[in-house]
Amino acid sequence: MTKYLSFVFDAFWNTLKGLWVTLKVLFLPSITVQYPTEKIVPYARFRGMLAYDAQTCIACGMCVRACPSKCIALAKAAPVPAPAPVEGRPAAPAVRVGPKIDWYTIDYGRCNFCGLCEESCPTKPRKALWHSLDYEAVFSTREEMVRKWKPGDGLWGTSRNTADGQYGPVADQLHIQSVPARK
Ligand code: SF4
Ligand code: SF4
Repeated sequence: MTKYLSFVFDAFWNTLKGLWVTLKVLFLPSITVQYPTEKIVPYARFRGMLAYDAQTCIACGMCVRACPSKCIALAKAAPVPAPAPVEGRPAAPAVRVGPKIDWYTIDYGRCNFCGLCEESCPTKPRKALWHSLDYEAVFSTREEMVRKWKPGDGLWGTSRNTADGQYGPVADQLHIQSVPARK
């Protein structure tokens, strides 16, 4: 009988201890969020999806050389042919006007989010390539993981459609920032 009562007391006591833990946190502020209607904004140095600005890029290729995963590729814009030389004067060199880039791609399937490309980008006062705070990119195929930018494209670029191989607007990517923070 004593053993039975001791067992009941232990069970009751352990239940009370459990309820006490619940009671202690019941009135504390909630630390969870109702995702996706509520989203946590990461800290400033978070390395999220890379954003790229074709207007700022000078096509120097430093990011291509810095990338350890070889996932960046680019093509420089063709220089505008020099005007016909004036007789008796040296020919003017070909010049580049407008965006320096023809196209720029990043394969997120190979990116390890190390940040070396952003570090190496020399443009000032703003980087042409930087890690945003965006962590919600969703890919359903490996082809979609390749992002491509051309002058005039938005900061998120375009993604490749698996069905027809064409690049189009990035579908279904949600953004926790309406304008990605520039660095
Ligand atoms: S974050 Fe690292 S792996 Fe990804 S593109 Fe930049 S340098 Fe390459
Ligand atoms: S993104 Fe930056 S580092 Fe890469 S080519 Fe453009 S200017 Fe150079």
